[in-house]
Amino acid sequence: MVKPSLRVAKTRNVRTPSRTRIVKVSKRTKRAHCSNCGTILQGVAFGNQSRVKKLYRSKRLPSRIHAGYLCSLCLKSAIKNNVRGSQ
Ligand SMILES: [Zn+2]
Repeated sequence: MVKPSLRVAKTRNVRTPSRTRIVKVSKRTKRAHCSNCGTILQGVAFGNQSRVKKLYRSKRLPSRIHAGYLCSLCLKSAIKNNVRGSQ
């Protein structure tokens, strides 16, 4: 089973007009945040998980390094620190 922090499926009971109860499962993902500063990442697909999986890979994530993990400003400063530290 998936870790609790990675579970996205939310279940709720729905009453229909004929009074049969249906367990409705919605798999929606929230917007991705930067792991360093916490701002919302641009260009990362979110929402209904089945819709996101059907998108092309280029529409799901930006194609640059650390996409979906760091925002552009944090990545810029991380690259600068890495280069300056190596000299
Ligand atoms: Zn950031």
